[in-house]
Amino acid sequence: MQYKIISSPAKKAIALVAHDNMKANLIAWCQQYKTQLQQHVLYATGTTGSLIAKKTSLSLRTLISGPLGGDQQIGALITEQKIDMLIFFWDPLEAQPHDPDVKALLRLAAVWNIPVACNQASADLLINSSIFNQSYQRSIPDYANYIAERT
Ligand code: PGA
Repeated sequence: MQYKIISSPAKKAIALVAHDNMKANLIAWCQQYKTQLQQHVLYATGTTGSLIAKKTSLSLRTLISGPLGGDQQIGALITEQKIDMLIFFWDPLEAQPHDPDVKALLRLAAVWNIPVACNQASADLLINSSIFNQSYQRSIPDYANYIAERT
């Protein structure tokens, strides 16, 4: 696979997802960083997004619930370069019925090289990064070039 460099925008599309036992943590994190988060475009899976909107008054684009396909929707948006960052508080202590979707989401985040935080400490470091609100360059698969060379 070949790669190309693209520019991630300063105003980012950030996807927020939390498994049930982690939702309170993500809501508290969103409260703490509300001022920073409201400068970006926020996406979330259904239940996570509804709870964050209710508890923090942040404005979000809410997808369907994770176990019903919301994780896959976020994965598709990552593939289309419409999500620039993933904050995913997944539960390491409880099995999930949609584990294949969770794995697929994390895989696509790695394929498309977006910043991912899977716990609060990583999310804290990401949002406090000096370049959080800036544009930055990242490398992604160059599929158009790949297919041009194979056909
Ligand atoms: P939910 O989905 O926000 O609809 O609960 C999250 C998930 O479990 O993927």
